[in-house]
Amino acid sequence: MSESHLHIESFNAILKDCQSLSCMARDSGLQRDACTELRSLLARASELKANAVAVGDEDSANLFLGFECAASSVYSELRMWLLLKEENPNEAWSALIDAQMAATSAARAHRGFMHLLHQHARLEAIEKLVFPPQVFLSAGWIVGRQECSICAAEYGTCDHLVGKPYMGRLCSIVARELQGNHVAIVKHPADKKCRVITFEVEGGKRDRMTWKIEPANRTERTKDTAATDGSATSDGLTCEVIFATGAGNAQPNHPNDAS
Ligand SMILES: [Zn+2]
Repeated sequence: MSESHLHIESFNAILKDCQSLSCMARDSGLQRDACTELRSLLARASELKANAVAVGDEDSANLFLGFECAASSVYSELRMWLLLKEENPNEAWSALIDAQMAATSAARAHRGFMHLLHQHARLEAIEKLVFPPQVFLSAGWIVGRQECSICAAEYGTCDHLVGKPYMGRLCSIVARELQGNHVAIVKHPADKKCRVITFEVEGGKRDRMTWKIEPANRTERTKDTAATDGSATSDGLTCEVIFATGAGNAQPNHPNDAS
């Protein structure tokens, strides 16, 4: 059996073991150990991807990109469960969205990871069953230029297609010369991390995720600061929102903290 096949077998075994810990009831210590193991899998997959790129082996480069994305997805899901158990549902939400995006990327990276589409569907079910409904936002931008992430040419003038893998990298559009235009409430956002975090209620601000009310410090927020810190102010309602995260870069995360 070739060295590459040995790596693939060992990666698949690790992913399977770690996936078996992906639910609320599993022990947090074992889940943290699995996160450590997945981080080293990610590092090894990146190394093997770089070797494949160096010899021009595109299929292997895309395969190891698939392993990076799959490991990233399982890692983020484990982080989500750990954060929920630590009563940090806002961070857990971000981890869930990372897990969903990485599952989609894995399925796009290589045909060997098409089954990760089931993982994505499972994560969407978790989104609906475990978390409360969210108010999503979509930022409208005036874009000066759309660049291909693979070759940096203007998108549409080269042969690369968004979401397709090229020598271990997924093609995405890099928007240049951005000018903010508007923010709208939407049902199906491009980025589910863009959402309303808190809103003003009698006596303070309510966290939309935990439903807890934090007493407001009326002097801490004015209409002047609102324009720059991501909060929106009208005469009747103040809310804190996330309207842009820089997501859309389809490459896998390389997590470096063990929490
Ligand atoms: Zn291109």
